[in-house]
Amino acid sequence: MGENAIDLGRRRFLTGRSAQPQPQGVRPPWSRAASVAAACTSCGACVPACPQHIIAQDAGGRPILSFAESECSFCGACAEACPEPVFDRLLPAFEHVAAVGADCFAGRGIVCQSCGDACPESAIRFRPRLGGPALPEIAADRCNGCGACIAACPAQAIAVSAHSAEAAHA
Ligand code: SF4
Ligand code: SF4
Ligand code: SF4
Repeated sequence: MGENAIDLGRRRFLTGRSAQPQPQGVRPPWSRAASVAAACTSCGACVPACPQHIIAQDAGGRPILSFAESECSFCGACAEACPEPVFDRLLPAFEHVAAVGADCFAGRGIVCQSCGDACPESAIRFRPRLGGPALPEIAADRCNGCGACIAACPAQAIAVSAHSAEAAHA
């Protein structure tokens, strides 16, 4: 990283980022908006089951994920804890992928590759360019939607993006 690279820990301290929720509403892996609406009883069993502590309950008591602090490890504990037919492990875990927005530091001239370092799927490549830091590009066909890049981004520049119509509004 270059001289003007952002120190992630310092940045989080300065911005108080850790207290900020992820804006998108994402349902747990292997669940869908329709199955949550139809079968979730708001029992909350999946919430304490998650070892990553990324499941909370929305206003209706239904599970919602936040990638602000951590990613989904695809451990399956949420699905195992649920007593209702909300989860279907035969489905792809998520219907979203990650997408980089306009707040990306690299796009604003500040060297940063935190998302690329965090991605377990090597789905983020950095495209060199003249006159500025290399820009992140997420390969949708490699992204599994885990959210590790969202948690790692010091600019809060990454969000989930619909892979199909349902995902970003789940
Ligand atoms: S699969 Fe595991 S890490 Fe992911 S949301 Fe469910 S319990 Fe949490
Ligand atoms: S998207 Fe976030 S983590 Fe990735 S380069 Fe931009 S600011 Fe850094
Ligand atoms: S969501 Fe996960 S797999 Fe997709 S780009 Fe981000 S870190 Fe990589």
